[in-house]
Amino acid sequence: MEKNGKDSGVLAMAACYQGFDPAAYLQYNYTPPRADFGRTDSIVPWKLACLHRAFTEGDVSGELLVDIGSGPTLYQVLSGCEVFKKVLLTDFLEVNRQELRRWLQDEGGCNMDWTPYLQHVCKLEGRRASEWTEKAAKLRQVITDVLPVDVHRPLPMASGALPSAGADCLVSCFCLESVSPDLATFTKALGHIGRLLRPGGHLLLIGALGESYYFGGPGVKIPVVPLNEEQVCASLKESGFTLIRLEVYTLPQDMRVGVDDVTGVFFVKAKKD
Ligand code: SAM
Repeated sequence: MEKNGKDSGVLAMAACYQGFDPAAYLQYNYTPPRADFGRTDSIVPWKLACLHRAFTEGDVSGELLVDIGSGPTLYQVLSGCEVFKKVLLTDFLEVNRQELRRWLQDEGGCNMDWTPYLQHVCKLEGRRASEWTEKAAKLRQVITDVLPVDVHRPLPMASGALPSAGADCLVSCFCLESVSPDLATFTKALGHIGRLLRPGGHLLLIGALGESYYFGGPGVKIPVVPLNEEQVCASLKESGFTLIRLEVYTLPQDMRVGVDDVTGVFFVKAKKD
């Protein structure tokens, strides 16, 4: 243990993130081929389909949805914004929080055009793609804040940021494994975010399988704890969650574009005990 009770591995991860470049990260992961809406085997449409299904099965409901480690992205709440009255986005880095605020305030200067994402999710919802403007308005209405988070703290958000009962649902995508130096820290972080959720509330967790690094910008190589499905299931159990469903996507060869060494993606729907 070192400064502020954090171990050296966690401090080293925080140092890596100082070079994170939202524009580059969006370019690497959220443009074709990884976000090719004409292909059913593209990674982003797969993630959006998992989230759409999870949010429309009828068991996920309540007032407040919180996304943990949003980064500079919005795709992960495009389905949830239709179910929850209030959505909070969170990230560790101010550059990412700023990127999200620029989109929310609709004043231009964004590094990403989310229009094809909004159109795609409209279609998943049985609406016309042209209704994307209404979905964008809905998103801007229900996302009420973009707040700091640190999953390595026993209480990752500032006290008073959430109602005392906790959120009704958490989403978190590619965060815990890419900020943890090892499996034990990943499991601990999962326990920490679980404390933000009310008992019986749902966790929708998306993450990388078999990944040991990714680039957060040119030359910004960030280590990742390589996970397999069994480890994800064991960590969920240890952290007080009951697994409802685990789905796995295997990256086709042409999605391996040199910005990481990820081999697959998991999607988990779980419930807090
Ligand atoms: N959720 C986004 C997505 O699906 O693409 C971003 C994932 S990105 C791989 C990891 C995110 O974790 C970054 O936005 C980074 O700023 C954030 N992060 C870094 N350290 C963190 C910490 N200690 N607690 C919470 N989030 C952290």
